[in-house]
Formats: sequence, C-alpha cells, structure tokens
Amino acid sequence: MKIALAKKNPQGVHVFYVLSKSGRRYTVQFIRRARMKRWDCTCPDFTFRRQLKGSHRFCKHIHYVTCTGASKPRA
Ligand SMILES: [Zn+2]
Repeated sequence: MKIALAKKNPQGVHVFYVLSKSGRRYTVQFIRRARMKRWDCTCPDFTFRRQLKGSHRFCKHIHYVTCTGASKPRA
C-alpha cells in the first residue's frame, strides 16, 4: 500500500490517501478537535463494522498509516 498526504487539510484533521494493492484509494482521516480524537476511514470494512457495532477499531488502512509513522500525531 502507498500513502499520500493531502496537501490541504481542514483544521484539526489530517487527511491521508491510502492506495491499496488492488488499486482502490481510501481516505483515512485523523480527526482531532476539542474533546474528540479519532481515526476514520472510507473503506467498507471500517464503515460496516462501525455501523454494525459502533466500534472504532482500526481497519488495515488506519493501521498502515499509524504503523508507518506517516502520521505525526500519535493516536
Ligand atoms: Zn480502511
């Protein structure tokens, strides 16, 4: 997988584009605002699991971003 950093990030949000081996591109976001700090991903895995269980467990894309150290903020 490859990671591309978005050039423009909204305030309090770090945006990463993760390109998977299958050629799909997902948007991973690290959102940090007052009283809120969480990761988000647009892949079906993360979206489905979150809707189903209300869980915020990391998907492989978020894992990848956090593990490679591409993200400056620490979750
Ligand atoms: Zn994902």
